[in-house]
Amino acid sequence: MSSQTPSPDHPAFLRLPPWVKSKLRPFAIPIIQKVHDWVETECIPAEPVMRAQLAQDRWKTPKLMHELRKKAKSLGLFNLFLPNHFEESPGLTNLEYACCAEIMGRCYWAAQTMNCHAPETGNIELLAKYCTPAQKEQWLKPLMEGTMCSAYSMTEPDRASSDATNIGCSLRIEGDECIINGRKLYGNAQWNPELGFYILMACSDPENPNPWNRHTTVIVPARSKGLTMTRNLTIMGYDHAPEGHGEYIYEDVRVPAANIILGPGRAFEIAQGRLGPGRIHHCMRLIGQSERAYELALIHAIDPAKKPRGKLIGAFDSNIERIADMRMGIDSMRLVVLNAADTMDIHGNKAGKYAIAQSKILVPIQAARIIDECMQMFGGQGLTQHTPLPEMWTYARFVRVADGPDAAHRHQVGRDALKAAEGFRERHKKYNERHAEICRAWGVDPGLGGRAIEDLL
Ligand SMILES: Cc1cc2nc3c(=O)[nH]c(=O)nc-3n(C[C@H](O)[C@H](O)[C@H](O)COP(=O)(O)OP(=O)(O)OC[C@H]3O[C@@H](n4cnc5c(N)ncnc54)[C@H](O)[C@@H]3O)c2cc1C
Repeated sequence: MSSQTPSPDHPAFLRLPPWVKSKLRPFAIPIIQKVHDWVETECIPAEPVMRAQLAQDRWKTPKLMHELRKKAKSLGLFNLFLPNHFEESPGLTNLEYACCAEIMGRCYWAAQTMNCHAPETGNIELLAKYCTPAQKEQWLKPLMEGTMCSAYSMTEPDRASSDATNIGCSLRIEGDECIINGRKLYGNAQWNPELGFYILMACSDPENPNPWNRHTTVIVPARSKGLTMTRNLTIMGYDHAPEGHGEYIYEDVRVPAANIILGPGRAFEIAQGRLGPGRIHHCMRLIGQSERAYELALIHAIDPAKKPRGKLIGAFDSNIERIADMRMGIDSMRLVVLNAADTMDIHGNKAGKYAIAQSKILVPIQAARIIDECMQMFGGQGLTQHTPLPEMWTYARFVRVADGPDAAHRHQVGRDALKAAEGFRERHKKYNERHAEICRAWGVDPGLGGRAIEDLL
């Protein structure tokens, strides 16, 4: 790893806007720099080794990943995502961690070497926020130490799960046990022996008149009797092994009632608290991926071996413009997401709702578009395993759906935005009143200039 002294001039900070640099505390600067050096020297150059090890045993975490996790932990690079208001946090703000997450995104699995990958991040935050001390000891501690993996299980094949009030998997409490029956989609594959448990959302009180109080969140050990993974779901052809995405059947699965988080009927309180920061992490990682795709496209643009019509690929006007659009697109995404992270730090996750939704809607679409343009500059090779571009594009594409489809966020943003309409009407009425006053003062017929606005009201 590089031994450069910590400094905001280090390449780790190259693309950060000045307002972000000015907010990074001296404590955070060497950490961000270390993350940068870690990804540059230990992760990206090791990608072919990781691929080769995975090809040998698809559903086992590769030896290299174990090695890197051990090393990253010893360097103090574990769990950086956990915001500094948690007592278990290493101390970064959301904004400072967002800078790390972008760097991690440059390599698809780098976040995992630092225990900063989904769904672990959301699950750790959930357990840290809502569990009892005894639950934390049993379930949070091994996740934070990186000795166990977890999954989040909400989505169902037979329900529109973006509206979680529809979740139908049934949970019955009998004495000191919960009995679970139903079907679930997604959540890491049970086939990986390191998977320790699922954080499951199920319906425990279907007749409750308040639909927000019908559901319960419970921890289900991964090897529970009656829990079967029927297959792994591929995402646009990728199996995402060794974590994967399982399809599950629950048949009379019994777990201790002590595994219920926060209490029966309180799943919505938990779900609402879980996703804000996770969405920002995905978006920052996508920005890191877009930067890497962009760099590959630029290298290709000056490759002397590729000269259609005798010209470098980067010498064509269409590509020069394409490069400009990509550059500006990446920089604008970064502004949006860093603003969301900063808003969460200053005003809390709830107040950051709009900025989080803005990131979740804009970034995956823009990142997929940019990576797509990079593929186009590469020609045929860009769509093959000669480049990491297809995998990157798939990641950007799936984040449009994972953690809630962008349409649902857009719907919410639009509905909230409409609430301002009445205020605008009042403001424009005042323009007209003032317009009439000014016309009278100048002896001008108010009908001539004001008609259009008056007609609208
Ligand atoms: C790669 C990947 C990983 C995932 N990981 C997990 C996981 O770990 N755990 C888990 O539980 N789930 C996971 N999911 C599932 C994901 O969270 C759900 O697919 C998502 O929440 C949408 O739910 P649904 O599939 O039931 O779609 P539906 O709710 O049926 O929605 C389908 C479509 O309806 C439209 N729609 C829905 N709501 C609205 C609205 N309010 N306004 C306008 N249009 C709307 C949209 O076009 C939407 O795409 C993952 C998904 C992917 C792709």
